[in-house]
Amino acid sequence: MALMTGEQYIESIRKIKMEVYLMGKKVDVPVDDPILRPSLNSVRMTYDLAQKPEYKDLMTVKDPETGKEINRFNNIHRSTDDLIKKVKMQRLLGQQTAACFQRCVGMDAFNALWSTTYDTDKKYGTSYFKNFKKFLDYVKENDLTVDGAMTDPKGDRSLAPHQQADPDMYVHVVERRPDGIVVRGAKAHQTGALNSHEMIVMPTIAMSPEDKDYAVSFVVPLDTKGLFMIIGRQSCDTRKLEGGNIDVGNAEFGGVEALVVFDNVFVPNDRIFLNGETDFAGALVERFAGYHRQSYGGCKVGVGDVLIGAAALAADYNGAAKASHVKDKLIEMTHLNETLYCCGIACSAEGTPTESGNYIINLLLANVCKQNVTRFPYEIVRLAEDIAGGIMVTAPSEKDLFDPKLGPYVEKYLKAAPGVKTENRLRILRLIENLSLGTAAVGYRTESMHGAGSPQAQRIMIARQGNIPAKKELAKKIAGVKE
Ligand SMILES: Cc1cc2nc3c(=O)[nH]c(=O)nc-3n(C[C@H](O)[C@H](O)[C@H](O)COP(=O)(O)OP(=O)(O)OC[C@H]3O[C@@H](n4cnc5c(N)ncnc54)[C@H](O)[C@@H]3O)c2cc1C
Repeated sequence: MALMTGEQYIESIRKIKMEVYLMGKKVDVPVDDPILRPSLNSVRMTYDLAQKPEYKDLMTVKDPETGKEINRFNNIHRSTDDLIKKVKMQRLLGQQTAACFQRCVGMDAFNALWSTTYDTDKKYGTSYFKNFKKFLDYVKENDLTVDGAMTDPKGDRSLAPHQQADPDMYVHVVERRPDGIVVRGAKAHQTGALNSHEMIVMPTIAMSPEDKDYAVSFVVPLDTKGLFMIIGRQSCDTRKLEGGNIDVGNAEFGGVEALVVFDNVFVPNDRIFLNGETDFAGALVERFAGYHRQSYGGCKVGVGDVLIGAAALAADYNGAAKASHVKDKLIEMTHLNETLYCCGIACSAEGTPTESGNYIINLLLANVCKQNVTRFPYEIVRLAEDIAGGIMVTAPSEKDLFDPKLGPYVEKYLKAAPGVKTENRLRILRLIENLSLGTAAVGYRTESMHGAGSPQAQRIMIARQGNIPAKKELAKKIAGVKE
């Protein structure tokens, strides 16, 4: 099958009979739900852009195994060029959606599983690589979107999976059968699960032999029996129900997360990628997190581009654009944003081949990238709020703007620089509000903090990869220290 168009993608998701709950109610057709639809539109862009000749080089790849054109989101990186193009593609999508476009978790899971299943088979003589490759061929052939589910609810964070009072705090095998396994548990914060055809499940932490039943990785379709989703709320989400397209800030695109419950779900043998080999749980987590931390050096930068543009327009519209401090704040925002991009490109350019044949990013630099992402978007947002002025959170609604009695007053008192339509000023202020405090702030702020692991998780990796002993030797040599 050729690449799907955006419309074909939407219709393919519509056909999947998922069990989805939102605010206490079952959603019969998630594709048409006004709160959920913008998140589907974001994933759709990964299909739409792949159809455009000007983006072919970034969005698609010639699969070296089949010679067929595939979407880059389904690619196994085979060079540093692939890794760099991945980051550039993500920046492009961030720019075009100003939201989380979700499809990267699957791509990062593919690349982590490619090398980890290979290594596991080498040690244990298992057939996980074959299983995984068969699944990936199916994904590539049908141009599917796949969710990457790593984060368990985790219960008491001080305890290992097998020590939890409730054994379901981490996804685990509850029954081993000749034809497969039965799993129970949940995955939290699942970005894009709702908009995916399939869901890959991976462990969330390194494990000891006592955690055998928790060291499990597999893939299931989203309409699998026993699997259901409880959608997370987002700040200002019900604005999408109000009609109009100004107050929502970004009427077309968004992201969404779900708590995905696995209530005794059966997984057939050929869809299992890890099953009890606890010593490979840590490697899978580390590799997935590494690729995902690289991803943030692209996607958040693209969203940052939109926010910087919005702040610059807000300054134009209120007549402050020529002030030197405003110019300097825009320079600072650009500097921070491009620093994130530098990290995304650097960890890609310093990538290396694995024994399994795919390329892995430089893990130290990928972790530095994500550590910066836990900070810089917050500063960029702070500066955008500074430039926007208080009106970004106190402006009357679009209903007031278009009201016959109130409209003229809103027009009169929200007018700023000459020649600027009040409606346009409001649109830009609402976009900044959306990215700072509204639905998109989930993706731009808190996802920057916790997505791909909280800040401390990167510091642990930086400590491990930073090689302080080698640096001590450098200092001793220069200083002439002899011990
Ligand atoms: C918007 C968003 C989208 C996401 N999308 C996905 C997704 O698509 N797929 C996915 O798998 N995950 C996803 N995540 C989950 C993300 O990876 C987790 O939020 C992250 O790993 C942190 O886990 P947590 O939220 O349980 O926080 P916690 O682990 O509870 O962390 C909270 C604080 O406690 C500290 N802490 C936790 N455990 C310990 C410990 N043992 N010792 C000391 N300190 C500790 C942390 O360092 C942190 O400061 C997403 C998260 C967000 C916010």
